[in-house]
Amino acid sequence: MSNNNHIAQNLKQVNIALAEAAIAYSRDPNDIHLLAVSKTKPVSDIILAYEAGHRNFGENYVQEGVEKIQQMKHFSDIIWHFIGPLQSNKSKLVAENFDWMHSLARLKIAKRLNEQRSIDKLPLNVCVQVNIDKDPNKAGVLLQDAKAFVEEIQDLPNLRCRGLMTIPQAKQSAAQLKQSFANMQALFDECKGQFEHFDTLSMGMSADLSLAISQGSTMVRVGTGIFGARKPMSK
Ligand SMILES: *Cc1c(COP(=O)(O)O)cnc(C)c1O
Repeated sequence: MSNNNHIAQNLKQVNIALAEAAIAYSRDPNDIHLLAVSKTKPVSDIILAYEAGHRNFGENYVQEGVEKIQQMKHFSDIIWHFIGPLQSNKSKLVAENFDWMHSLARLKIAKRLNEQRSIDKLPLNVCVQVNIDKDPNKAGVLLQDAKAFVEEIQDLPNLRCRGLMTIPQAKQSAAQLKQSFANMQALFDECKGQFEHFDTLSMGMSADLSLAISQGSTMVRVGTGIFGARKPMSK
């Protein structure tokens, strides 16, 4: 809508915020990647971000994401990340269309994605989603089960386990949130020492980007801060 022409400017601002947080916590800004979450936003908005130089985009809904990917096939250097909940009957669409999948939490889905990923493609990059607050309404493995799950999916040749992802509960104190992020960082560091290709800690969104970076995030997922507020979805 009216803020289309602000997307390039927003991206610049978010990249500055990211770099400032990195420097404030003695981290290399190049170690922290920005995923632009384009769910509910039109292809025209993604193109504006693309023209501003951005290449990594995140989608939450399978059908919506696949439609955009197919419409944008000629933008062949875009890297598409699936970050939403996935039902097993939709896994094939993710295996066939996306480059990354951040919300892996069930072995059954891991096996399906592995079978459905074409051997002509690079392995599907996956992150294991951790339900850090033991929230009954959220997907994810529990913190204490995550390492065993990472171990279980190591041998699936068409998946490449790149790290961990979490979506903390929105309503909690900054101190609680920081503790959750710190628990993720501890687990991430432990796994990184043990598993090949393990280099991604996907945590932090528009509102808690710098706190996440202070606790070791390597990929922040920002929607609102880049594309503006979303209309509520009907589904
Ligand atoms: C929507 C969403 C985001 C982006 O949230 P904003 O608050 O708009 O930055 C990040 N991660 C996931 C998993 C999401 O669903």
